[in-house]
Amino acid sequence: MALVVQKFGGTSVADAAKIMNAARKAIRRHEAGDRVVVVVSAMGHQTDILVDLAKQITDRPSAREMDMLLSTGEQVSVALFAMAIHALGHKAVSLTGAQIGIKTDSVHGKARIRSISTDHVESLLADGAIVIAAGFQGIDQDGNITTLGRGGSDTTAVALAAVLGADLCEIFTDVDGVYTTDPRILPEARRLPAIAYDEMLELASLGAGVMHSRSIEFAKKFGVPVMVRSSFKEMPGTMIVAADRAPQRPASGVALAKDEARFTLENVPDEPGASHAVFSRLAKAGIAVDMIVQNVGQQGKADISFTVPGDEAMAVREIVEAVGRELGAGGVSSDEGLAKVSLVGVGMASAEGVAGRMFTALAQHKINVRMITTSEIKISVLVARDDGPAAVQAVHRAFGLESAGASDTAAAAIEAGRSSPLEVVRRLEGMEDLAIEDCVLDASQALVTFTDLPDTPGVAAEVFEEVGRAGLFVDMIVQSHPRDGRAEISFTVPAGDRDKAADVAARIAASRRATAADVPHVAKLSITGVGIRSHAGMADRLFAPLAAAGVNVDLVSTSEVRLNVLVAAEHGERSLTVLRQALGLA
Ligand code: ADP
Ligand code: ASP
Ligand code: MG
Repeated sequence: MALVVQKFGGTSVADAAKIMNAARKAIRRHEAGDRVVVVVSAMGHQTDILVDLAKQITDRPSAREMDMLLSTGEQVSVALFAMAIHALGHKAVSLTGAQIGIKTDSVHGKARIRSISTDHVESLLADGAIVIAAGFQGIDQDGNITTLGRGGSDTTAVALAAVLGADLCEIFTDVDGVYTTDPRILPEARRLPAIAYDEMLELASLGAGVMHSRSIEFAKKFGVPVMVRSSFKEMPGTMIVAADRAPQRPASGVALAKDEARFTLENVPDEPGASHAVFSRLAKAGIAVDMIVQNVGQQGKADISFTVPGDEAMAVREIVEAVGRELGAGGVSSDEGLAKVSLVGVGMASAEGVAGRMFTALAQHKINVRMITTSEIKISVLVARDDGPAAVQAVHRAFGLESAGASDTAAAAIEAGRSSPLEVVRRLEGMEDLAIEDCVLDASQALVTFTDLPDTPGVAAEVFEEVGRAGLFVDMIVQSHPRDGRAEISFTVPAGDRDKAADVAARIAASRRATAADVPHVAKLSITGVGIRSHAGMADRLFAPLAAAGVNVDLVSTSEVRLNVLVAAEHGERSLTVLRQALGLA
């Protein structure tokens, strides 16, 4: 007898007929002999309607009251869902987040789950009832209702599946699976029969709205197999599983974050501690940053740039301007009309020329790349907001994703068993805390930096095509935001290729009237874990100990599962020691 958690999103319970339809699915599972927990979202656009109502009263509603309001949406749908099951002749009990015992922290509007008690749900299941749980909500230690953030019912579902030891978590939605990109943006997108946790984590946190990214953190940490499938069509969907069970592709999908804001602190004194000052303040405000780029300092000054979701721009501006003044920065610039396009694939790290191909596709469509960051399994570029959809299409086609063809034999071959939970889970205080797995030092890389490159479409493409033709295997790539019409690009290669890289760089620099410099040995520190980018404060936890040890950070690249920093080779060992200590790995 299996235990299955089924989650129905807003469109799947938008009216009475759809609720009846969803109830029948739950009953079918139950009749097949499984124990069933159903997690339900608010009906249709109910949450938006409630948000809008609040706005009509005040433009600064209290966060606590907002959660009180929004949680009602799910309370309506669980009650109706339970009634539907009763009407069909079966036993069901609906529960709010508090009644289940979903304890969260007190960050209203984006609360994180600390613990879930299973007693109540388990006794109801043992009693033969189908349990109908309200998604998206919990309760803090003082009894206040909290919500998990928009789209958070996915997270309730996977978290419940994790603590109950469910055999499968089915996410029923209005698409029939996870696609190579949002099918609403690009109709030629294809459904993927299977995808790795790490890929889904990246895609979701970089803009693919099909899953709440925090739900995939749970899935990965606790080894929960997740199936995304259609509420309306009987067909296989997409299995989200551990990497060793998923296909290894250089490119699995493209994500678009439609509204991003970039901030740059210009001419910051280039000394240890500057980054820490900025990111600790943002962390305190609960703001998670992405695409952190620090250009290589000149004349003792450096620029620090990063991106945040557009709706956080107002809060971020106040903070960054204050910190800029304290640090004696030259100024703060920002740009809000931006989109972030990311290519994700777990097989990227072992494929050559992926970056070059992506930049070339963008250049062919005359799309100017404003900033670049990479990690082992993703490449993100910042482009003008209006270029977003065209950029997605260009990249999607460049990797042949439109003919990726969902072969369901591949999915069928994947046994939907649970993977074992990650080792770190035992060390976590709260279930949803940032999970750091390891921190390691790699001293085998060389760094090449171009300054003064012209900021025109195609520059990155030309650089990385040439680098690719020379057979160089590039690891980290960072392009800082252009200033005065000039851009800066840095990348790392294996130290053994340093001479070749220096030659190629000199050639490229000469033909573009840019300057190339190289550092034969740099130290790369990699922190691995789950939720690294989406938990505000990782950057802070990284920069604080390094600043205290007097180590200057040269480059940073982030992803959900890994954060890399480059420091001078002579600081490698010391940085490793202080970081391991600070991260509790010592
Ligand atoms: P629900 O209300 O069921 O939670 P959502 O609207 O949150 O549904 O998520 C489903 C939507 O996610 C789809 O309709 C689709 O437009 C969008 N989406 C974005 N990226 C992807 C993707 N890569 N694959 C599938 N759907 C995606
Ligand atoms: N009802 C909530 C929202 O619309 C949660 C969810 O649907 O996942 O964001
Ligand atoms: Mg959703």
